[in-house]
Amino acid sequence: MNQSPLEMYMFPCLSDNYGFLIHDIDNKLTATIDTPEVSAIEQALDFKGWNLTHIINTHHHYDHAGGNLELKNKTNCQIIGPEMDQERIPGIDKKIGHEEVFYFGIHKVICYHTPGHTTGHVVYYFQDQKIAFVGDTLFAMGCGRLFEGTPEQMWNSLNIISNWPEETQLYCAHEYTKNNAEFAITIDPVNKNLIDRIKEVEEKRINDIPTVPTNVAIEKLTNPFLRASESEIKQELNMIGHSDESVFAEIRRRKDSF
Ligand SMILES: [Zn+2]
Repeated sequence: MNQSPLEMYMFPCLSDNYGFLIHDIDNKLTATIDTPEVSAIEQALDFKGWNLTHIINTHHHYDHAGGNLELKNKTNCQIIGPEMDQERIPGIDKKIGHEEVFYFGIHKVICYHTPGHTTGHVVYYFQDQKIAFVGDTLFAMGCGRLFEGTPEQMWNSLNIISNWPEETQLYCAHEYTKNNAEFAITIDPVNKNLIDRIKEVEEKRINDIPTVPTNVAIEKLTNPFLRASESEIKQELNMIGHSDESVFAEIRRRKDSF
């Protein structure tokens, strides 16, 4: 049986979040990835003419799960979220854990536990589409703040993402790219790929064009948090001989006060 590819719709909401709808036309399924802002999600659903059937949560923060109950009450949708964080995901129905698989229509989705930003954070890899929703784990040229996890945990979590196929499109939940780029160049000042990317990002932002999605290949070349194991970075930070995790921790520490 031939099935259509998933349709995606991305829209800005709150001050710097992105909302994402995914739609399976054959089975008439529509999911929102997280629930940052109910009115913006409803507007997007109306605009596309889609009915909400699922909420897929990455983590419990209010700008990710704050709209869960209101949307569930209105639509009776099913809420899928991290098993580890079931007490903090309002209205959760289906709990999933690390490397667990579920199907959205016939589309295979693999869940990965990526602690660091929060202890229960998960990301979702839609295998046949080669797209992933990475919440607040990875941002373009950045990564989430370590509110609950350790640098070691976040380093391991980011490595899960960097091991996906290079062409995987990464949908992160915030437009933080310009600030991340300004920080990245302080860590990786002679990286030609980074310098070129910063020019592109500046041009996009001047014209109010989103810099999301990004992809695995470009992040591996330009994201200082993914590059903590590279000798150029260790040299720049005077950390030759230090472990990758400790270099990552130092980069995160600098970003926190940037
Ligand atoms: Zn968050």
